[in-house]
Amino acid sequence: MVMSFQFPAYFTAIFIITRVMSIMKISKPLDVHHKDIRAVDLATKLSVDPSAIESASRDFGGIVKAEPEAVLHPSAPQDIAALIKFSYSNSVPFGIAAKGHGHSVRGQAMAENGVVVDMRSMANKRRNGTGIRVSIDRLYADVGGEQLWIDVLNATLEYGLAPVSWTDYLYLTVGGTLSNAGISGQTFRYGPQISNVLEMDVITGKADFLTCSPRMNSELFYAVLGGLGQFGIITRARIPLQPAPKRVKWVRLLYDDFSSFTKDQELLISKNGRKDKSALDYLEGSLLMDQGSPDNWRSSFFPHKDHPKIISLITKHGIIYCLEIVKHYDDRTKHSVDKEMKQVLQGLNYMPGFMFGKDVGYEEFLNRVRSGELKLKSQGLWDVPHPWLNLFIPKSQISDFNNGVFRGIVLERNITTGPVLVYPMNRQKWDDRMSAVIPDEEIFYTVGFLHSSGFDTWEAFEDQNKDIMRFCNKTGIMVKQYLPHYSTKEEWVHHFGSKWKVFQHRKYQFDPRMLLSPGQRIFNNN
Ligand code: FAD
Repeated sequence: MVMSFQFPAYFTAIFIITRVMSIMKISKPLDVHHKDIRAVDLATKLSVDPSAIESASRDFGGIVKAEPEAVLHPSAPQDIAALIKFSYSNSVPFGIAAKGHGHSVRGQAMAENGVVVDMRSMANKRRNGTGIRVSIDRLYADVGGEQLWIDVLNATLEYGLAPVSWTDYLYLTVGGTLSNAGISGQTFRYGPQISNVLEMDVITGKADFLTCSPRMNSELFYAVLGGLGQFGIITRARIPLQPAPKRVKWVRLLYDDFSSFTKDQELLISKNGRKDKSALDYLEGSLLMDQGSPDNWRSSFFPHKDHPKIISLITKHGIIYCLEIVKHYDDRTKHSVDKEMKQVLQGLNYMPGFMFGKDVGYEEFLNRVRSGELKLKSQGLWDVPHPWLNLFIPKSQISDFNNGVFRGIVLERNITTGPVLVYPMNRQKWDDRMSAVIPDEEIFYTVGFLHSSGFDTWEAFEDQNKDIMRFCNKTGIMVKQYLPHYSTKEEWVHHFGSKWKVFQHRKYQFDPRMLLSPGQRIFNNN
């Protein structure tokens, strides 16, 4: 269904757009009679203010900087459609990037010399002031692409409901995570967030405003999910909900042996039916290394009194592996949850005496990274460079990765700071028609090096990241980047592998003038 809009005309809009065009050196004079320009008051929403430009030139990564010529602060999807239409129909089109919360780390939401659409401007300005509508009867929420997941959580919890698939950190937009995948400890069971979308409204690179789902405009639906912003701007997503639990039993187990750690992880994710009550609700894993404390900014979990014994274990082994699992419960299951958790733990090969547990509210658990963020912010340590590297690695090669990377490059360089995540997921929970790229094996691991660095030291981390990629290439580890960033077309073609042709075809179909998300540098990397 193609939607069309009627807009009031404003001469000031034409003035500002003309100005933006002249700054952008777009040669064709603006056709003031063009009905689509008359159709919208872009003037009040386009900003060339230095502070808006500055903010749109940066992201969480703090490594890339690219200045747009203007920033659009839309108050409705129609504003975005009008901007895209304007660029699409111009003889010299300009790039347009939706910026969600700007938590990319490599400039993916930037548009050098183009226009950045500040999606957050739409938050709370539409749909009766909420941007999130919950259907209690049909168990879904319609949420604006600009909404933060924390707001989705709060709005749905009001009805005792919640989505099932999350990211570790909730101050990310719905449009931003659906453009990648949205993974966390629930992925092994429910799939990534992109596997949990019923339908979407999307404005394509041709300015068509389409509703898409597995049955309606399905090519666009699958293209956009994990599509790195290349095919359209998501303005609404319908997310399925389930009754929310009240609390969680949260357990961490320590291992000195990688093989026991991964065997146990794989055993635990083998129970993964959505409706299987004996399955875990969350499973992740991480490395503990000599960083002064077994806790890191993302989590303070271990009791203080146990720090010395954990630290001495780390000192002895260099790296300790931490398995993290969760079981939900509510009033109905509160009497049985401990017994169930005990059954889960039976037969696992963690180090005796190194099991730690917590019992916290469901929301506190989901929002667990927030307190670390606030602490870092108060110390001025949040807005520092983040030379992150996120990878997917086939199960059959994760042991080689441990030997060569964790126990090789990482220990030798001895610069790794911040969390290093490692946990498995099931390929069957992903839909191959989507644009997201994952390894071919049924079980694969995600590894996230979530470094924070000093302003002068990020290059050392970048060198380490390159070393890791070189090692994988040399030894034939079939690694795929998550939140990928490459600088040449060849690298992108290699990244997409057998999906490249379809990805490219979809680009021609939905964004033939290559307007959208230029900061990903897939189609405009020269
Ligand atoms: P942005 O950085 O603003 O945009 C990302 C890309 O999506 C850009 O290409 C942009 O143009 C495009 N885009 C944005 N909005 C839209 C839209 N509405 N329609 C179409 N395209 C759009 N990821 C996980 O999967 N799991 C995690 O647990 C996780 N934890 C994180 C923790 C932190 C502290 C940070 C900083 C990031 C984390 N991420 C995680 C990564 C995160 O999911 C991605 O970086 C995501 O893109 C960030 O969302 P955003 O709203 O900031 O998107």
